[in-house]
Amino acid sequence: MATIAVIGLGNMGGPMAGNLVKAGHDVVGFDLSVAAMEAVKARWVRLAETAHAAVADADVVVTMLPSGKHVVAATAGPDGLFAAARPGTLFIDSSTIDVASARAFHEAAVVAGHQSVDAPVSGGVGGAEGATLTFMVGGTDAAFAAARPLLEAMGKKIVHCGGAGAGQAAKICNNMILGISMIAVSEAFVLGEKLGLSHQALYDVASTSSGQCWSLTTYCPVPGPVPTSPANRDYQPGFAAALMLKDLKLSQEAAGAAGAATALGAAATALYTAFAAEGNEGKDFSGIIEWVRTRADET
Ligand code: NAD
Repeated sequence: MATIAVIGLGNMGGPMAGNLVKAGHDVVGFDLSVAAMEAVKARWVRLAETAHAAVADADVVVTMLPSGKHVVAATAGPDGLFAAARPGTLFIDSSTIDVASARAFHEAAVVAGHQSVDAPVSGGVGGAEGATLTFMVGGTDAAFAAARPLLEAMGKKIVHCGGAGAGQAAKICNNMILGISMIAVSEAFVLGEKLGLSHQALYDVASTSSGQCWSLTTYCPVPGPVPTSPANRDYQPGFAAALMLKDLKLSQEAAGAAGAATALGAAATALYTAFAAEGNEGKDFSGIIEWVRTRADET
């Protein structure tokens, strides 16, 4: 049993902290939001008055924060959590953040004498609740080995992607595929509608042909063929368009810095920017099919 501090008890961090408790760990949590702190009480997470108090006696610190600037501000510098924790603490950052901030997080952890992994997740709130998340992990072999049993308490697939920042790199590459493929599937259904093809007929063909992909077979953007997809509940998330746009922007930032050509990634970012700007940030990202359909009707 380890003493684990969880910093950031929001939609993801709250249930992840609860699963660490279920695995028998002593979990102490902190969040700037009083509502998030209150909500996690039912999960038997001990609450600390400050982030510093939460990490003071911890063997492991898990951060689950909104973005890179939050992670770097919370951990680095003389007032940060690296300085407040005992040397040799294992830091696991599971937030989705830019690769440059992830590398800065690792560098500051090493300077402070800690072990660190970037370990972003896919699987959403359902995966966080059910401990079925996929973790994409970047860091040394030793840090990965130390983190693995804890990640197994919160997820079902744990992949060591490489050194510092490799987990974040894998996450944004995967989600760039997802954003592009959802638009591709949406365009195909809207074209099919214009050609008089039923949704079910297109689904039956494409789901067993070369157009097959997760956006089609698990998350089909039209109601009917996949009863569990958000299209069947008026595009309630699921995975909100705002989060998809965040990840696409991270992919474009990384592509610019690395000099990679991502023409379709750039196009998907532009389309999700327009979709979100029309008041759809809170809708499931598969709702972009409605936006594609509106554009088709305008032409
Ligand atoms: P959230 O907004 O629900 O939770 C973030 C929490 O961090 C908030 O409660 C906020 O008060 C807290 N916080 C911010 N700064 C803090 C600080 N300095 N100290 C303590 N607490 C602080 O967000 P979420 O949905 O839980 O997502 C967290 C991360 O996981 C994000 O990076 C997101 O991109 C990623 N993610 C989310 C999902 C999803 O479906 N929600 C899926 C995969 C990855």
